[in-house]
Amino acid sequence: MSDRRRQLPSVDRLLREPGVQELLQVAPRSAVLTAVRESIEAARSRRAGQPESWAADIQDRLATRGRSNLRPVLNATGVVLHTNLGRAPLAPAAVEAIVAVASGYSNLELDLSSGSRGSRTDHCRELLCGVTGAEDALVVNNAAGALLLALSAIAAGRDVVISRGELIEIGGSFRIPDILTRSGARLHEVGTTNRTHLDDYRRALDRDVAAFLTVHRSNFEQRGFVASPDPAALASLAREAGVPYLYDIGSGLLADLSPWGLTSEPRVSDALDAGADLVLFSGDKLLGGPQAGCLVGRKALVALCREHPVARAVRADKMTLAGLGATLSLYRDPASALREIPVLRMLTLSAEEIVRRAGRLLAACPAVLSPELLTGESAVGGGAFPGAVLPTTLVSLHAGPLGADGLALRLRLGATPVVTRVAGGRVLLDTRTLPDGAESRVGAALELALRE
Ligand SMILES: *Cc1c(COP(=O)(O)O)cnc(C)c1O
Repeated sequence: MSDRRRQLPSVDRLLREPGVQELLQVAPRSAVLTAVRESIEAARSRRAGQPESWAADIQDRLATRGRSNLRPVLNATGVVLHTNLGRAPLAPAAVEAIVAVASGYSNLELDLSSGSRGSRTDHCRELLCGVTGAEDALVVNNAAGALLLALSAIAAGRDVVISRGELIEIGGSFRIPDILTRSGARLHEVGTTNRTHLDDYRRALDRDVAAFLTVHRSNFEQRGFVASPDPAALASLAREAGVPYLYDIGSGLLADLSPWGLTSEPRVSDALDAGADLVLFSGDKLLGGPQAGCLVGRKALVALCREHPVARAVRADKMTLAGLGATLSLYRDPASALREIPVLRMLTLSAEEIVRRAGRLLAACPAVLSPELLTGESAVGGGAFPGAVLPTTLVSLHAGPLGADGLALRLRLGATPVVTRVAGGRVLLDTRTLPDGAESRVGAALELALRE
């Protein structure tokens, strides 16, 4: 151990330093103390040892802690809808709409023509009906909220018929049976884990059935000896019986991604065309907008939802409505949706474009990391297209003495955090999910990570 590291000052000594005394005048003692301890700890582990100025180092640490710790990161994982990284990045038009509405007042609940009270639920209504073909629409905080609302408004105290194969967990603490129970509805399971037939639903009809519910298996696939009724058949059985048919499709896919081989995810229009009475989906998955939950379908059902007290508890914020509205507007021209909405653009990047980006990133990487190109796969993520394969070109890095996990950690802790994949002892960078032109920023982050 070097001398510089052995002679670290004590916490008490640093607290008596004039520069640190000044910090104590303006910041809570506990915060200064934490920064002092961090500073000593960093000096202990750093090869260079003690900072040039203890007071400045402590002040920097205090300032960093005082900032919100929610900040932008560069996603080099190749997972397009990364739930831990905030799912969908927004289109420029959506960002502009949010900034415009957030930085001043808006007509959120004012009818501008009459000057009297309007409704926030009017804002995305026509756009959603326009792009989906639905009779009516409602936007709430997220899809879990949309499901809770729909079940509360339509099925409280009565039976909801659902296949045992769809009693699923979406991630985190969100399980369909729990939401169903919370809404006050009674769960009536039919069929088995792998096979459920139309007759299973038909036999349930001698009960007090408020609705049929289908939940898309967003984040896993069932293969082998499996069966579930076609949504169109289920919709016609529901119609014969006079029971509403609710369909939680999850991802809110509006675009046609079949030319890119992405076909396994139901589109909103598919669910409506099949005859679903109410279709529920997220705003920030394949739709590519802000976090939101959408309910589209029959007027009478949407009205029940809109008027239910839970609607207030899960209502959408003005920034959500602004961002979602601007995103939906882009869908009026399918080509501009694919070009402008980052999620769709990333999913439909050509192999040539990815190779070009990977080449630029390769050139920006420090040579000591022996960067090389490698073919691999990106993932859609976010509980959508679980089995889809998106071929990509990766930049693979040899981390040397730092080790791949060590380099990945330093990249995450940098001034602009870069999130990567680690596999087979290498750090892997996928340019599919990086913003345009970010290659040089990633290169700079690598240089810094090596210098630490
Ligand atoms: C993702 C998902 C949800 C939850 O959506 P949030 O917007 O995250 O609340 C609900 N149902 C299905 C089928 C999903 O895939």
